Formats: sequence, structure tokens, C-alpha cells
Amino acid sequence: TKRAGRNGYNFFEPSMNANAHHQLQWLQDLRVALERKQFRLVYQPKFSLPDGPVLGAEALLRWQHPERGLVGPDEFIGLAERSGLIIPIGAWVLDEACRQMHEWLTLGYADWKIAVNLSAVQFADPHLLEVVRGALERHQLPPQSLTLEVTESTAMHDTEASLLTLQKIADLGVEISIDDFGTGYSSLLYLKRLPANELKIDRGFVRDLSDGTEDAAIVSAIVALGRTLNLRIVAEGVETERQQQFLASVGCDALQGYLRGRPMAPDLFLQTMREQHKS
Ligand code: C2E
Ligand code: CA
Ligand code: CA
Ligand code: CA
Repeated sequence: TKRAGRNGYNFFEPSMNANAHHQLQWLQDLRVALERKQFRLVYQPKFSLPDGPVLGAEALLRWQHPERGLVGPDEFIGLAERSGLIIPIGAWVLDEACRQMHEWLTLGYADWKIAVNLSAVQFADPHLLEVVRGALERHQLPPQSLTLEVTESTAMHDTEASLLTLQKIADLGVEISIDDFGTGYSSLLYLKRLPANELKIDRGFVRDLSDGTEDAAIVSAIVALGRTLNLRIVAEGVETERQQQFLASVGCDALQGYLRGRPMAPDLFLQTMREQHKS
């Protein structure tokens, strides 16, 4: 770990070198992945509560590595950010998500929204607006069909500059969702100024949701805050009926989680949503 490394530099040096070599290999692979189109998007549904319809999907990045198999974003987003590769990778994600949403739109799912995660590095990129506008135009997607998810800590960093960027995104007509909410210490004053449409309650607060727990109190407070500020509140990481019932009881607007739907390849997503619609 980083902490151990700081306290015992000499002891950890050999493994740090091994790690550097390891990172170089991953970096090389990551470059190749872009060229050879090894990235995929999977889609996780968002459902409105208490038992409403599908609101749309969040696009989540996967890497189909020829030898390592399917690699999750937690294993390579950090490296992609440090190396700057997140810029072209992120542009690909936006383009592909817009292409997919346009396909669903032509199939009649015009009220769905597609949510795309933005890294802090993309968020700080001066070309972000062009990239977003370009993806929408290429796929003739109405801006209101797209939601950009930015973590609370990204939105909180350099608050005045962030507010400006968020306002420009909002001016495009694209929705803004504040991800991992509750972990970034936003002030109420800042939240009030934020041109956001949605807050996503971090999974960490959802895990231990039962009456009387501290997390239950925090979640009810966030839901009440959302109502006051006119923001849609989405709970992420909902895995149990009990969590779902609690969220519905406090008036949370929507949820995402393994209980109702895992991230799925696009064909399976569409098929699953169609089956749920029938029943
Ligand atoms: P996130 O945006 O907070 O996404 C939610 C993560 O929680 C996803 O992990 C999702 O698969 C997982 N999840 C959903 N429901 C449940 C549940 O009920 N229980 C549990 N335990 N987990 C659940 P995933 O796909 O591994 O993504 C991890 C993170 O990687 C994301 O966190 C996001 O920060 C980042 N990420 C994913 N795709 C992209 C992307 O295209 N661009 C950028 N910049 N970051 C991405
Ligand atoms: Ca997200
Ligand atoms: Ca999240
Ligand atoms: Ca997260």
C-alpha cells in the first residue's frame, strides 16, 4: 500500500520497481486496446421508485483483454488518467454510448437517458464541450437523452472553475448527475449553485440501510435535501429487498443495483428491459 511504501521505502523498493515494470506493460496494452477496439460498454438500468419504469442506463466501461480476459475499470482507469489516455478512451465511451442510445431511441425508447461517467481529467479538459457536442451531433442524439456523471469530489475541486464547466454542459441541454454523493463534503451553499439534475447516493451509505442506523439517517437527509433543491435522488448499489423498501419509504426517486439489474451487454439489456415491460 501507499502508506507502507512511505514508511518503509527501502524495504518496498524492489516491489516498486516490479510495479513500475508492470505499469509500463499495462500502459502499452492500454494503447493497443484503443487501436484494436478492445473496449466494450455494459449497461446497468436505473429504475424509478417505488416500482416505476426504467429511466435509462449507465454505461460502464470494460476491457476485453486478449490474455487477461474481461478487465474492470477499477484496474485501469487510474493508469489511463495518469497517462492521459483517458482522454481518447473517454471520447470513445461518449461516442459509443451516444451511438447505442440512438439505436434504442429509434426502437421507441425515446424517454430513456444514457448516463456516461466523466473522469476528473476529462472534466478539466478544455476540449470537453467539443467532444460532447461532437458525439451528440454524430449520432443525432437530443442532448436531453444524455446524462454526464461527475463525482462529487471532481465537482468540488476548484469550485468556481467546476461551476463554469458544469454550467456549459447544462447549457448544451445535457443532464448532470453528481456521483458518489456524500463522500465529498459539498456545502449546502455550493449545492444550491450547482446546475445539477441528479444526486447519486454513494454505495457506501446504502450497504447498511436498516431503520435506526446512522446511514439510514444520512440517506433520509440526502433525500430530503434533494426534494428541497429539486434534484432527483438515485441510490446506487442496492442489493437487497430491505434496502429497496427503506429507500422507497423515505421517498428516494430511483435506484440502481444488482437487486434489479446488473451491468449487461447491450443486447441482453434490451431483451431484459423488454421482458420486464411485458410482466
Ligand atoms: P461508479 O460510477 O460509482 O459505478 C458504479 C459501480 O458499482 C460499477 O462498477 C457497477 O458495476 C457497480 N455496481 C452496480 N450495482 C452494484 C451493486 O448492487 N453492488 C455492488 N457491489 N456494485 C454495484 P464498475 O463497472 O466496476 O465501475 C467502477 C467505477 O469505474 C465506476 O464507479 C466509475 O467511477 C468508473 N468507470 C466505469 N466506467 C467508466 C467510464 O466509462 N469512464 C470513466 N471515467 N470511469 C468509469
Ligand atoms: Ca457512475
Ligand atoms: Ca457511484
Ligand atoms: Ca464509485
